[in-house]
Amino acid sequence: MVRRIGILGGTFDPVHIGHLRGALEVAEMFDLDELRLIPNARPPHRETPSCSAEDRLAMVRLAVADLPPLAVDARELERDRPSYTLDTLISLRAELAAEDQLLLIVGWDAFCGLPTWHRWEELLDYCHILVLQRPDAGSEAPQALQDVVAARSVPDPQALAGAAGQIAFVWQTPLEVSATQIRQLLASGKSVRFLVPDAVLAYINAHGLYRASN
Ligand code: ATP
Repeated sequence: MVRRIGILGGTFDPVHIGHLRGALEVAEMFDLDELRLIPNARPPHRETPSCSAEDRLAMVRLAVADLPPLAVDARELERDRPSYTLDTLISLRAELAAEDQLLLIVGWDAFCGLPTWHRWEELLDYCHILVLQRPDAGSEAPQALQDVVAARSVPDPQALAGAAGQIAFVWQTPLEVSATQIRQLLASGKSVRFLVPDAVLAYINAHGLYRASN
């Protein structure tokens, strides 16, 4: 039987309800067998995260415990070089049947930055790309992507066919929360209750993460 696996990469510094709600909505919309959250080790495009990989991973594990089909995939933390998405896709593909569908989930902003990713033209050889849209997102892809979107996008996301190679756009319930905001609240001694799962909050408190003195 053909499996459908979604992947959502991020720094998850820390994981929050925006990530989790988005992941759950996509998992239900596409009836995914699994949706893997993949914490980045050394993101090529971002500043160094402000807590350890071990803590970020532990928090994602707590967040998705008992929440199938959400799961954690720690492969990028096990590598000793930058975590290019293409490498992750290649290694995931090696573990799947050829006909299994792999859906790479990216926000609109990340999608617009795709042409700066390592060997980006090859990504669609390994996966479909599912772009999460919001009402405030730009309505047109940047020039560099427009040919690819014209050639590869499907109007109906449910019609994604084959193991890889297509692009679909889906609307997502907006939740205006970011890890940056959560780190700032914690650094100024404020509560982040209801912005992260209670188990993640307990971990943050127990380990004294993101406090101003760290
Ligand atoms: P930071 O504030 O540190 O930049 P972040 O909250 O944007 O972090 P990331 O770990 O960079 O979180 O995000 C990983 C993925 O989750 C990205 O694809 C991003 O678009 C998506 N994401 C982040 N915040 C939300 C949100 N509130 N709703 C839906 N998706 C989100």
